[in-house]
Amino acid sequence: MSIRVEHINKRFGDFVALNDVTLDVPDGKLTALLGPSGCGKTTLLRVIAGLEQSDSGRILFNGEDSSNAHVRERNVGFVFQHYALFRHMTVFENVAFGLRVKPRRERLSDSEIRAKVTRLLELVHLDWLGHRYPAQLSGGQRQRIALARALAVEPRVLLLDEPFGALDAKVRKDLRRWLRDLHHQLGLTSIFVTHDQEEALELADQVVLINKGAIEQVGEPAQVYSQPATPFVQSFLGHSNFFEGRVVSGALQVEDGGLALPAGSGDEGARLSAYVRPHEFQVTRETSGPGVEAKVARALELGALARIELVGVRSGRPFEAEIPKRELAKLALVPGETVRLVPDALRVFPAQEVAAE
Ligand code: ATP
Repeated sequence: MSIRVEHINKRFGDFVALNDVTLDVPDGKLTALLGPSGCGKTTLLRVIAGLEQSDSGRILFNGEDSSNAHVRERNVGFVFQHYALFRHMTVFENVAFGLRVKPRRERLSDSEIRAKVTRLLELVHLDWLGHRYPAQLSGGQRQRIALARALAVEPRVLLLDEPFGALDAKVRKDLRRWLRDLHHQLGLTSIFVTHDQEEALELADQVVLINKGAIEQVGEPAQVYSQPATPFVQSFLGHSNFFEGRVVSGALQVEDGGLALPAGSGDEGARLSAYVRPHEFQVTRETSGPGVEAKVARALELGALARIELVGVRSGRPFEAEIPKRELAKLALVPGETVRLVPDALRVFPAQEVAAE
């Protein structure tokens, strides 16, 4: 089931929650809606589900306009962060619920329902918990039951709103992997909301970056990370060192030095913003040439990598570089010494564009 979101606008009073959002969600793929708190992710998910009416625009399921279809007709399954299971029902009955409330002519027989619920509980690896009540489950088990309940009615689309938000890091990681496998095994089309970039990059086939109600970029995880289309995406995903300056003789002059520019980055005199990821810096003791001068504040060893915290010699801005640990050993940096940071890669944008906070 493919989904197309076309020119969706949604206001709450004067507040623009969604601003002309157009998006294609491919059939069978796992799509992440990623962005800071309040950017409109949940609102977009609710509009797709039919739980919220947009002011304008269309939602198409498999090319068919479903904008006015009722939630039930859209046949979507939901899993929310605090998806309350029915407390007075066993796990088994929670999963069976959607099947039992179907109109009589669509309803399966009691034995068919039993067989189906058993299969679903096996699918989420919790068939041994069918007799328990929700209060007797861990948070991760509850979310898996919520997923089994959503899948019971065979939805065409699965929508997940921060499904693992309330869980601890280790359980989240395990469930992420498990969800990705399950999604592909069942051939579902799923959309999940998260503000956790690691979760989006690890889990999704397609990542949609949203900022202030508008889409900034859509792409595969590796693509949005390595080729950010806007300053927002660049600074939202991963860590970046930020520079601002003017083009002089084809280089970007910044307070702490000069950065070689990729060809065609900007006209002479243009003001540009530039971003460098920590691992894209080379740390040298060269006293001249391209690069910025910074004082070493401290170096931290983190597994195979070493993170060096520095301060621009003139700007006083904090910088961060990441180099292999053996390179740090070779350099034998001393706190307080001045080094040169030379970027291997530099992404530039016109300076008037405002980066994410
Ligand atoms: P979070 O990650 O914090 O859940 P989000 O990206 O999912 O954020 P939304 O829940 O979509 O954000 O909300 C987007 C904006 O719309 C927020 O500023 C929110 O306050 C506002 N908003 C959402 N629902 C309503 C409503 N029913 N009435 C008024 N404003 C609302």
